Amino acid sequence: MAAIEVTGLTKSYGSTHAVRGIDLTIAMGEIFALLGPNGAGKTTTVEILEGFRAPDSGDVRVLGFDPRGGGHAARQWRNRIGIVLQATSDSGDLTVSESIKHFSGYYSNPRGVDEVINAVGLDEKAGCLIRELSGGQRRRLDVGLGIIGNPELLFLDEPTTGFDPQARRSFWSLIKSFRNDGTTILLTTHYLDEAEALADRVGVINHGQMLEISTPFELGGRSSAQAVISWRDGDVIKTQATYNPTSFIGTLTSQFNGEIPELTVIRPSLEDIYLKMIGEAHE
Ligand code: ATP
Repeated sequence: MAAIEVTGLTKSYGSTHAVRGIDLTIAMGEIFALLGPNGAGKTTTVEILEGFRAPDSGDVRVLGFDPRGGGHAARQWRNRIGIVLQATSDSGDLTVSESIKHFSGYYSNPRGVDEVINAVGLDEKAGCLIRELSGGQRRRLDVGLGIIGNPELLFLDEPTTGFDPQARRSFWSLIKSFRNDGTTILLTTHYLDEAEALADRVGVINHGQMLEISTPFELGGRSSAQAVISWRDGDVIKTQATYNPTSFIGTLTSQFNGEIPELTVIRPSLEDIYLKMIGEAHE
């Protein structure tokens, strides 16, 4: 069974067609990143999967369940998912540890409170009031609240916004450890390096439509794109774009009879490919 299965999903707000026919299948244990510019329809899609919004049309299955279903089955289903929203409501008068403890009570098989506080790097702030946290620390708490229930499926909507670079790297390690535990993760992010570091596959949404779903390495023909080779030749830096970098470097090696001065070989980054796709979609 797929963790998430969506076919023909549409959603409009009045005359705004936010989602225009999206198909998406995410396997159990997969980390999937949804990419797309502001207003592309990512949050709308994710909120439908979380059961917070009703689709206009389409079929949606999340862990085999229709998120709009109700009753006991819906409560059991909620117990199996974790959610980190883009913005969270304030519960500023609780401490970090009180708030995590409070939310752990909603789940049948929660992680330990101290384990979660440690995982999100808030040990030193455990006794602090939430309203006294910095923006990035607040975001770490949001992530802690999303994982306290030990979810099989975790939704992360722009989880590292406001994190400093070190916090972002340690968050990535945390997410990778969830992968090893078999947690399925649907992530939205504007950081292409984050998608590349974490995601098994990425999907690019623009104007409510899925442009492409692929691995970060193959998106938009990236793996077969031209490499740009540069090297120093006397006083000048020379560059050459080529589909056959190995053979070109072979030629340079014989030309220089050894070490090629200041050699670099650059392939397009995921961000280069993404911007090209989005740019083309605007034309
Ligand atoms: P971002 O990267 O900025 O978070 P997004 O890809 O998550 O963007 P959505 O929030 O899904 O985009 O918005 C898609 C479109 O739907 C936008 O044009 C937005 O203005 C519109 N929209 C979203 N929520 C509502 C709402 N509650 N009422 C009316 N329009 C909405």
